[in-house]
Amino acid sequence: MHRSIVPSSHPRAKSLYIRELLVNGFKNGIVVEEGLIAHGRGETFDYLLGEDTTETARTAIKAACSLLLLAVHPVISVNGNVAALCSKEVVELSNIINADIEVNLFYWSKKREMAIEKELKKMGAKTVLGTRSVDSTRIPELQSERGIVDYDGIYKADTVLVPLEDGDRTEALVKMHKKVISIDLNPLSRTSKAATITVVDNVIRALPAMAIEAKQLKEQNGEILKRIVNEFDNSKNLSESLEIIRCGVDARYG
Ligand code: ATP
Ligand code: MG
Repeated sequence: MHRSIVPSSHPRAKSLYIRELLVNGFKNGIVVEEGLIAHGRGETFDYLLGEDTTETARTAIKAACSLLLLAVHPVISVNGNVAALCSKEVVELSNIINADIEVNLFYWSKKREMAIEKELKKMGAKTVLGTRSVDSTRIPELQSERGIVDYDGIYKADTVLVPLEDGDRTEALVKMHKKVISIDLNPLSRTSKAATITVVDNVIRALPAMAIEAKQLKEQNGEILKRIVNEFDNSKNLSESLEIIRCGVDARYG
């Protein structure tokens, strides 16, 4: 890691540090070129949102953690960008909510899958699903590599956390009657709109925040968790994030 390249006094230090994590992930075979570009789209929204976890995102985080704690079989889906940015946090959250971790790649290669598995295991993951064992199966409607999932993981899961996901896959999981929680900086993406609960925040901040929240909520009884989930309105929450972007732009340039 080259954290020292970015002086902490630099006004965009955090943002540049995140870029470094991705570039390192690219060099280590975890991230693909397209992942770097996808990050650019996320960065734009992060900039507009003020590069901080908003209260609106916190409301979604609380609902997301409640849903994950209520799940019978939760799975966290991991792609290259997520592995490069927050493997440790994925493992931590999976331990708290008792979830499986599954590698699921848009641009699949055996080499990349193995690099991500290795990274997750380095961070303490005991089992990593989705590594093309005999147990792989297919999500209906998704062609080629994109639709292949682990039979004992995402295929059977009742709740799937997809930090950074493509709209097609999110929609396909929802069609399979799964509860889908996404973390996506773009409140306008198909993923954000299709998911059961969308956390509009950077994964690098949202996942640690979810670990803290889940630890606290774990002490609550199921009825309280159900109430938190039922009171959550995803479209309303997305509109609030858009409003934050609008107000921020008006305040800075209006
Ligand atoms: P969709 O397919 O859902 O309509 P898209 O095609 O615009 O979205 P994709 O490349 O499929 O975009 O998915 C990447 C998504 O992840 C984008 O919405 C982008 O804003 C978001 N994103 C990228 N980096 C981060 C990050 N670090 N944290 C949270 N979200 C991010
Ligand atoms: Mg997409």
